[in-house]
Amino acid sequence: SLSDRLNSTFDKLRGKGRLTEDDINAAMREIRMALLEADVNYRVVKGFVAECKEKCMTAEVLDSLTPAQNVVRIVLDQLTKLLGTTESRLTLAQNRTPNVVMLVGLQGSGKTTAASKLAYLLKKQGHSPLLAACDVHRPAAADQLETLGGEIGVPVFRGDGKDAVAVAKGGIQDAVDRLCDIVIVDTAGRLQVDEEMMQEAVDIKNVVKPDQILMVVDAMTGQDIVNVVTEFANRVDFDGVIMSKLDGDARGGGALSVREVTGKPIKYVSMGEKPDSLEVFHPDRMAKRILGMGDVYGIIEQAQQAADQQNIESAERMLREGFTMDDMLEQMQQVRKMGGLKKMIGMLPGGDRMLAQAGGNMDDSQITRIESMIYSMTKEERLKPKKINGQRRKRIARGSGRSVQEVNQLLKQWGEMNKMMGKMRQMANEGASSKKAR
Ligand code: GDP
Ligand code: MG
Repeated sequence: SLSDRLNSTFDKLRGKGRLTEDDINAAMREIRMALLEADVNYRVVKGFVAECKEKCMTAEVLDSLTPAQNVVRIVLDQLTKLLGTTESRLTLAQNRTPNVVMLVGLQGSGKTTAASKLAYLLKKQGHSPLLAACDVHRPAAADQLETLGGEIGVPVFRGDGKDAVAVAKGGIQDAVDRLCDIVIVDTAGRLQVDEEMMQEAVDIKNVVKPDQILMVVDAMTGQDIVNVVTEFANRVDFDGVIMSKLDGDARGGGALSVREVTGKPIKYVSMGEKPDSLEVFHPDRMAKRILGMGDVYGIIEQAQQAADQQNIESAERMLREGFTMDDMLEQMQQVRKMGGLKKMIGMLPGGDRMLAQAGGNMDDSQITRIESMIYSMTKEERLKPKKINGQRRKRIARGSGRSVQEVNQLLKQWGEMNKMMGKMRQMANEGASSKKAR
């Protein structure tokens, strides 16, 4: 899937540490392939990759301590931007009763289903909607809407079932009589863009003057989506998109193309056939979903907040002088500042599973235990943990109220972290000397 492809691209970057222009180029090639395979429009892909690359090619990114993370953040930001940046709600007129929302789209795109789901959502928000069955071409269309309306307790106006414009008009009058405040107009669609269908939609539009026209787009539409939405935009025009069938095995390309191609926001996504499966569309969440991330953004934000000057200084000192128990203590406390291990791990993809495997061991209380042991060490022991022999271990255990095993475990943990620091130091030195060589 798109998420898998992007993730393996990012994993390769993460494994590299420092990044060169070639690394970025390779990653961008893979991102381009992944998006094209997900059926994102090629023009959209081209623009997207070019912008990502430009943002990644700065010294700020390449020379940073965490270049791969910065690349991921840039791709996430650009993806969010592509999807519309902020959410876009249904805009209703304050001074008109009833408001009219009209749905258009190809046959089978999910209009009738979306009409009833939107009615359900609005009803839950305290509105009193009415459904107008303006698909007069398929005999079963009105029945389908009536069934769906019945399930959610929303009235359905069928009129004479012959003239779509007349049904729309009649629906508005019926809404006035029933004191309904929103009419949702379900219209007919064809399998292909078709002149008669377009004209009928335009006729309805001209007569009922909808406050919002939403185009329902099947998420499984591939490259063709560009032609379809462009035709509708040119002929009927619409204010936003309902992306349907996002629960299926859609490759997600449609959602990524539609905003860029039409300039119209996705307002809702439909994720199933149940009445409550229509959701307000959040570009940032969708972008994260595509990247297969948990709330990575939350982590980045917290990390940024925590990364003050003091932090940078201590990182530099660690690289210079080695990793002490005081550093370990500081890191632990940093983690707690970031909202606790549990919360942090929970936000990572697969984090819930990791927590379960750890048997709930990884929490604040572990940090507190480690703290108590480090506080029981002398200054010298903290700076040179290798000197902590058996006798000292016993003393530290007694002082902190912990067992000797726990002290051993802590020293082992320090040993591993120290080894890692050594490797990083080596990498930093190599990086510095290769920079000089350039
Ligand atoms: P219309 O011709 O545009 O009115 O499309 P319909 O609303 O009749 O939907 C066509 C088919 O798609 C029906 O079988 C619906 O049950 C199905 N469908 C619509 N929306 C969704 C969705 O979000 N998820 C899934 N899985 N199926 C949907
Ligand atoms: Mg229909």
